[in-house]
This record gives sequence, structure tokens and C-alpha cells, in this order.
Amino acid sequence: MIDFKNYNLPDDSGHFGEYGGSYVPETLVPALNELESAFTTAWKDDGFHSEFDDLLKNYSGRPTPLYFADKLSSDLGGAKIYLKREDLGHTGSHKINNTLGQALLAIRMGKKRIIAETGAGQHGLAVATVAAKFGLNAVVYMGRKDTIRQSLNVRKMKLLGAEVIPVDSGSKTLKDAINEAIRDWVTNVEDSFYMIGSVVGPHPYPLMVRNFQRIIGLEAKKQFDEAEGSTPAALVACVGGGSNSIGLFHPFLSTDAKLYGVEGGGEKLELGNHSASLSEGSPGVLHGSLSYILQDSNGQISPAESIAPGLDYPGSGPEHSYLKDCGRVQYSSVSDTEALNAFKLLSRTEGIIPAIESSHAIAKLIQIATDYKKSDGIIVCLSGRGDKDFSEEVSNGE
Ligand SMILES: *Cc1c(COP(=O)(O)O)cnc(C)c1O
Repeated sequence: MIDFKNYNLPDDSGHFGEYGGSYVPETLVPALNELESAFTTAWKDDGFHSEFDDLLKNYSGRPTPLYFADKLSSDLGGAKIYLKREDLGHTGSHKINNTLGQALLAIRMGKKRIIAETGAGQHGLAVATVAAKFGLNAVVYMGRKDTIRQSLNVRKMKLLGAEVIPVDSGSKTLKDAINEAIRDWVTNVEDSFYMIGSVVGPHPYPLMVRNFQRIIGLEAKKQFDEAEGSTPAALVACVGGGSNSIGLFHPFLSTDAKLYGVEGGGEKLELGNHSASLSEGSPGVLHGSLSYILQDSNGQISPAESIAPGLDYPGSGPEHSYLKDCGRVQYSSVSDTEALNAFKLLSRTEGIIPAIESSHAIAKLIQIATDYKKSDGIIVCLSGRGDKDFSEEVSNGE
């Protein structure tokens, strides 16, 4: 059994156990080394932290509330449900925490051109936002399919001054957008900063993005203690690449809280119809690191599928792979239909329209709430708001 009191992965080579690392073309090695050294220096620098904290507070509106969902709690008839309201932060999701941190690094490194990929458009929006604020040029790659189902975010990114490039290769979703972003980075590595949107990719991204997102869990821990004078019995978060979940979970790894990571189960759990890489996949290399991915018997990456564009990715962060193997986090999936039902339930019981990604966490909560005592607390990460989801299947027929 691992003692999480002394947990400090990744190691110097960017490994979480066997997972993570840096599987990249030679041309990117100097850029990753440069980034790692800039991040390490910044993270030890009080000046960086005061700038970052100030932006989180005054630009993004942190701390986000930890809201006691009394009506949902009594409707579900189990534990006390608390929602960590990342939907209330600037741009409507947790993505802004990470882009503010990376923008400060880009500025320190003297890079004026930002490359990014986006699925739901929430990361692209957060990138376009910080680029506008800091006078940087943003180029955002987005799968064609996602530009259609998340067209509102495309219009917002353009308004903010970003260039949005639709990607027509592969399944025209997040994986293909990342491929294009990496291609761009290899070509323009001298003057460009690659702003990855989740805890995926080669070292140091999984470490760096986690540290920028840990604020979610640090705040939640303090807020829960203020409200209940204890630690929660369980935490629930959706897992796409895995950044909102690891951000929430990380400060709780050494507690007794049960941790549930919820993936996109799509229409059915058959390869090609879901995005459940941790609960259904197997280890392999994708986008520069080793982690659980969706692949066929020849090791070819399998297309992912989910009603939630932010979960529609055939991989997930290497730290999650490690936490899965050591049994600290329980990973499972819920189906598109279960997520849709949860989307409606939260809207109608609490007057909060969740992102369809976050609705996956709510759907898992519905399954487990009564496994807990009424005096227990469960924190669910409401990673984003649902406004973006009104152009698609989600709100049809309503
Ligand atoms: C991007 C996104 C996700 C999935 O990304 P993670 O890195 O797993 O957090 C979940 N919810 C929302 C609202 C998102 O925008």
C-alpha cells in the first residue's frame, strides 16, 4: 500500500510509476527542457505565485463557492452533496486556472505565439481569453466536428482575437486537434508556446497542469472543513484528460475520502463507442506519454466517442493511470443517456445547468449517493456550465 502522505510523483524524469515520461520527436526535446526549467524556477518563486494568485482571485473570481446542494441531497436521499462551482469561474470552466498559469510562463519565456488544441472549446476559450489579456497571439486547433457542436465557443474565440483552425483529419475531434497542434509546435518551436489543456502530453505538462489545477482541491478542502468540520467521505469528478479531477483529488490523496473518476461511457462500452480509456483501455503511448488509452489489438488508437466533447478523447493523464493501478481512485464510466438525465436533474432540482462533461460526475453521484450515510459529505466537481451545450443533442426536445 502506498503512503500518500509522502506522495510526490512524478519523479525527475516525469514518471508516475511506469506511466508518463516523454515520448516525443527529437526536435521537441530542447523545448520541453526549457519549459521544465522555466516552470521549476517559477514554481519556487514567490513573485510568480503572488501574480498567479492575484489573477485567480481578481480576474477569474476565485475562490469558487463550495455549494451545499440541499435539494439534490434530499432528493437523492443519501449523503450531503456539495458542488465545487468551477462553472462560476471566468469563462465558465476550470480551464482558466491552467491557462492563466501557462500564460505567465509563456511571458517569462518570451514567447508571443500560443498554440493550443480544444475539444469542447472551453480550453480554446480560456486560451483566447488569456491571449487577449496578455497581448499574445493564439492559434487554436479544433476538430471540425467540435467546431459544429460547440459553435458558440468558436464565435467567442474569434471575438477575442484568436485564430481557430478546424481540423478535418481522423475523427475530427480532440485527438486530431492535438495532432495538428503538435505538428505546428514542431515547426514553430522557436517562438511558440504549446498550451496543453489537460494533464496529458509529455513531461512536464501533467505535473504543471496538475499544479495549476490543484487550487480546486485546496479550496474545497478548506471550504468543506469550514462547513462540516471534517473531510468529505467521497469526491466525484469527470475525467477527460483528467485535469479537473486531479486538481480536486490531489490534495485529498492522503485522506480517507473515496475518489471516483467518471469517464464518458458513450452509447455502449464497445471499442469505438465510448471514451472510457482508464476503465476500459490498456497502457500505450499517446501524445507523448504512456498511460491507459483506447487501442485495438494492433495498438492502433481507437476513435473515442462521447456526447461530451470535453471527454471525447482516447487517453487520459498518466497520473490517473498510476492512481488506477494502485487502487487509490476508482474509475468507471456512465453512458451518454445517464449523463443527459443527470444534466436535466441538476437543472431542475438546483437551478444549475451543468456542462454535459460535469453531468457525468452528477450521474455517478446519483448511483452512489445512497451508499453513504446522511451525515457523510460528498464533493462533486462541477467543472463547467452548460451554456455551451445548447446547440446539440443535449437540449433537443426540451
Ligand atoms: C475540458 C473539460 C472537461 C474535461 O477535461 P479534464 O482535463 O478531464 O478536466 C470537463 N469539464 C469541462 C467543463 C471541460 O471544459
